[in-house]
Amino acid sequence: MSVILDTHARALEEMAGQRLDLLVIGGGIVGAGVLRDAAMRGLRAALVEQHDFAFGTSSRSSRLLHGGIRYLAQGDIRLVREASVEKRILSRVAGHLAEPLAFTFPTFRDQEHWKLWQLKIGVKLYDALCGWRNLGESQWLSREQALKHLPMLRGDELTGAVRYFDALTNDARLVIDTLRSAHQHGAMLARDVKFERATQQPGGLWECVVTDLLRKCEIKLHTRALVTAGGAWSGQLPYSRLPLRLTKGVHLVIDHVRLPVTDAVVMTEGRRVLFAIPWGKRIILGTTDTDFAGDLDDVRCDCGDIDYILDITNRHFPAARLTPGDIRSTWAGVRPLIADKGHPSDISRSHVIREVGENWLEIGGGKLTTYRLIAQQAVDRIMPALRGRRIVCRTADEPLIPRVQTDGISSIIPPPVTRQAVEHYCRNEWAWRLEDVMLRRSSWHHYVDNPAEVAQQVASWMAEIFAWDQATVVRELDAFLAANSCKAGRHC
Ligand SMILES: Cc1cc2nc3c(=O)[nH]c(=O)nc-3n(C[C@H](O)[C@H](O)[C@H](O)COP(=O)(O)OP(=O)(O)OC[C@H]3O[C@@H](n4cnc5c(N)ncnc54)[C@H](O)[C@@H]3O)c2cc1C
Repeated sequence: MSVILDTHARALEEMAGQRLDLLVIGGGIVGAGVLRDAAMRGLRAALVEQHDFAFGTSSRSSRLLHGGIRYLAQGDIRLVREASVEKRILSRVAGHLAEPLAFTFPTFRDQEHWKLWQLKIGVKLYDALCGWRNLGESQWLSREQALKHLPMLRGDELTGAVRYFDALTNDARLVIDTLRSAHQHGAMLARDVKFERATQQPGGLWECVVTDLLRKCEIKLHTRALVTAGGAWSGQLPYSRLPLRLTKGVHLVIDHVRLPVTDAVVMTEGRRVLFAIPWGKRIILGTTDTDFAGDLDDVRCDCGDIDYILDITNRHFPAARLTPGDIRSTWAGVRPLIADKGHPSDISRSHVIREVGENWLEIGGGKLTTYRLIAQQAVDRIMPALRGRRIVCRTADEPLIPRVQTDGISSIIPPPVTRQAVEHYCRNEWAWRLEDVMLRRSSWHHYVDNPAEVAQQVASWMAEIFAWDQATVVRELDAFLAANSCKAGRHC
């Protein structure tokens, strides 16, 4: 039996061989957060994920830990306050994945929304909602100061700018480190396992049927409670009652030298905001917000998305003259919003936790930033039924993972490409495919200068680690490059 199948089989046997307290469905940030919190409170908890961990929306976000300044404009003070507090908590407990980042928000006379005087009040309110302890103090910039700060910014009609602080993270790493911590606290987890259905037995125990997608067989798991955190896939889960509205958001990665900004810059289009986010030697541009009805397992950026983002960026930075040829890579994700009407950008990003059966909670909506709080609320709700009392949540105080376990492995700017890192991802972080390492464990695909060569090197190391034959190496490389090579320059 291969190393992968062996590890996989053992994880599932362990889960199936006992009565679980809690089974979590979905290995995105929400499921990972619930698993860790439950394990830290002493529950016998397990999680199944149908793809790789963080395969879904949680590896395709804007990578921000933010209160959400635009939610202020929508009057959603509760969400901003909640997310602002969480942003600070994550900066404290997961500092390696929360780098303070200044945002400059320029305003223009010919802009219908986003008036300077309103933003001046807004950023102070933003700091206040952080208890005046935001990651940096907000500022007001005159027109001249804004241009000095962002020399490439369009100067005509510019009225000034405000500057405020949020944090940059690495979304997929946040998921993986949360899962590593959960595992270290005794939780069980298995990827490539799809939850199919559950029936309640006399006595209240849930019998869950899952499909092992690697060995192509069904397995029964028994649990006292369930939490489903299926993100955009929730509508396909049994008993789900979430009124989901799916919208797609894409990001483009370009070279920092093509748009050399040191602050993140807020760019607007009507009421919508987009960002240019400095990420080491790259800039991340995004995002879009369009209704989505395609295949959730294959969400891609298309030419319309690229035109839209480049057009808005070029309108703000005319001298940059960005073209599709500047794009190094892209990613696209789907927001599982809770609503069925209205403009996608106007729909609230807050979460809901609903009971869909006895001791069965379903979580929908929410943000990466608030995942710890969402998990805390969900575990708080099931704890009394499982233990007869409340057990205090410790995730706001305990470091996510010991610092020594992150060096050269887990960071916002990808670590150097080394065999040691690849070996770690494969042996300790459930990375079994080339794509798992290149995208979700390391982000190398989006960052290195020569992604195709690095992919070859990584594939050859993985071949040694997992004893892959040449045909498997070729298959992995072909699949990865076909799915991820950026064809923007050629087609758009
Ligand atoms: C473009 C974009 C930008 C964003 N930017 C930000 C940002 O900057 N900051 C922020 O805070 N938030 C941001 N968000 C929101 C944030 O990314 C999401 O709220 C969050 O990632 C959702 O996590 P999740 O765990 O609910 O979903 P997912 O990450 O999608 O995880 C759900 C998982 O469940 C699995 N699953 C589903 N059904 C089954 C089944 N039957 N069996 C087993 N597994 C199953 C799926 O495979 C998937 O991996 C952004 C979202 C988008 C789309």
